[in-house]
Amino acid sequence: MKKIIFAICVLYLFSLSGALAQDNDWYITRSTHFIVYYKNAKEDFLNRLIERAEDYYEEIAENLGFRRFDFWLWDKRAKIYIYDTAQDYQEGTGQPSWSGGCAIARSKIIKTFTEAPGFFDTVLPHEMGHIIFREFVGFNNNAVPIWLDEGVASYQEKFRRATARRIAKKAVEDGAFMDLRKLANFSPPTAKDAEEVNLFYAESLSAVDFLINEFDIDNFVFFCQNLRDKEDLDKAIRSAYPFMNVDSLSRAWKESLTER
Ligand SMILES: [Zn+2]
Repeated sequence: MKKIIFAICVLYLFSLSGALAQDNDWYITRSTHFIVYYKNAKEDFLNRLIERAEDYYEEIAENLGFRRFDFWLWDKRAKIYIYDTAQDYQEGTGQPSWSGGCAIARSKIIKTFTEAPGFFDTVLPHEMGHIIFREFVGFNNNAVPIWLDEGVASYQEKFRRATARRIAKKAVEDGAFMDLRKLANFSPPTAKDAEEVNLFYAESLSAVDFLINEFDIDNFVFFCQNLRDKEDLDKAIRSAYPFMNVDSLSRAWKESLTER
C-alpha cells in the first residue's frame, strides 16, 4: 500500500511540474519550491532557471546556517515572473533601466526578464537571499539595517565576495570608507553616483562576510535569532559577538580589512 501511495505522489508531483497552465497573459510552470510565470521564454531557459533556483534554495539557507521550518511548498511556493524584454519588465514593474530584477520579499515574488545580464549568478541569488533572510528575521523588523539586508543578499553572489573585500579595503586606504552607521543611513536610489552605490554594496557584503567568516556560523545564526526576537541591533550584536554595539563591530571590521 505504501508503495502505491508513493507512486501516486510521485505521479502527482510529476504532473504538476510538467503542467502548463495560463494565468491572464502568463504561462505557468512549477517545480517543488517555485512557480514560474513566463510569456515567450524558451524551454531550456525555464529548465535552467528552475534548476538554479532549486539549488539556491538549499545553498542560501546553508550559507546562512538557517534551518528551515517553513518550507516553500504548495501554496507557499515562491513566484518568479519572467518578462520577455527589459522594456516589458520596466513597464510592468516601474523599475529603472539599470535594474536587472526585483523582489517583493514578503510575497516571495521575484521579477526579471529573459536577457537580464548575469541573472543566474547575480539577480537570482541576490533576490532569493533577501527573501530567505527576511523570512528568518522578520519582514516588519525595523531593527535590521539596510547594510545587513543588502549585505546578506549580495553575499549570495559568490563571485562578488573577493572583489567586495578589495573595494572595501581600498576605500579605507583612500579615506572613502563608510562605517556601519553611515551605511545604515545610505539610500541607494537617492545616491549621487554609481561609484558610491557600488561602494555601499561592496562594504555591506564585506561586513556580512566578516560576521559570517571571522566567527563561527552559529554566532551568525544566534545573532539573527536575537535580532528577530528582540528587534534591537546592539543587543543582538552583544548576544552573539564579542562587541558591545554596532560601533565596536564597525571598528573591528574596519581593522580586519587592513590586516591582510
Ligand atoms: Zn538587494
